[in-house]
Amino acid sequence: MPDSSGLRLLHVHAHPDDESSKGAASTARYVAEGAEVHVVTCTGGERGSVLNPRMDRPDVWENMSEIRRAEMDAAREILGITQHWLGFVDSGWPEGDPKPPLPEGCFGLAPLEEAVERLVRILRTVRPHVVTTYDERGGYPHPDHVRCHEVSVAAFEAAGDPERFPDAGEPWQPAKLYYHHTFNRPRTQALHDAMLARGLESPYAERLADWKPEPDWDARITTRVPCGEYFGVRDQALLAHATQIDPDGAWFAVPLDLAQEVWPTEDYELVTSHVPTTTPEDDLFAGLRDGAASA
Ligand SMILES: [Zn+2]
Repeated sequence: MPDSSGLRLLHVHAHPDDESSKGAASTARYVAEGAEVHVVTCTGGERGSVLNPRMDRPDVWENMSEIRRAEMDAAREILGITQHWLGFVDSGWPEGDPKPPLPEGCFGLAPLEEAVERLVRILRTVRPHVVTTYDERGGYPHPDHVRCHEVSVAAFEAAGDPERFPDAGEPWQPAKLYYHHTFNRPRTQALHDAMLARGLESPYAERLADWKPEPDWDARITTRVPCGEYFGVRDQALLAHATQIDPDGAWFAVPLDLAQEVWPTEDYELVTSHVPTTTPEDDLFAGLRDGAASA
């Protein structure tokens, strides 16, 4: 196992549970190797619905904020991360046609500069070498995910600039910025095909039928981090978000050993690097080992 001590990775996510559904196995791997992994959660997930029938109870709905905080605490322990709240309120998933306006005071409507300053402050305190966030589509079109992308990219640029937010701490320029591509179509297709080949029912038939292949989009993946060994830890972290995750749902329809065999990586796109590296990569810290990360 490579030694990752002294290296720091920071993921920026929109809601509690996103850290467990995207990049969680690579997180667990880097923690096991001695890296410090931080998660910034932009919102409290206050407007999330209850997606687990067992938790669809009035007492859960009434205490959603507290429950989601407790779920996040449990996931944090399982993943071995340090977690920071950015302190914004969930925008909710706009339902209807046309979509209703976003609720007042939510993250999606918060002034960009205010959110960027809060994240810059965290980046300058934690001093991560690597930052991850969502692509410009948000990974999926939730307004908080799109906003999370905008805030992360702007903060990655600003954190090292002494002229930006001079009251938010000593400048620190993270070396690399990545976008998550965990749920890419080729992976979904490969898992689907393997399920059918084993005579199992695939949870992906409908999704694939509606999902137009986008080879140019998939070609943006530069970095595949082997982390199949840690898929079990990811599953435990997901289950900790009991209001959001149905243990009998699609998340767990693919047997662990099949996923480990067919697609044992989590996939990322390297967007910016201030250190020399060659793509394709298999490590978010490529170019930062060998003492480059001594700062
Ligand atoms: Zn989310």
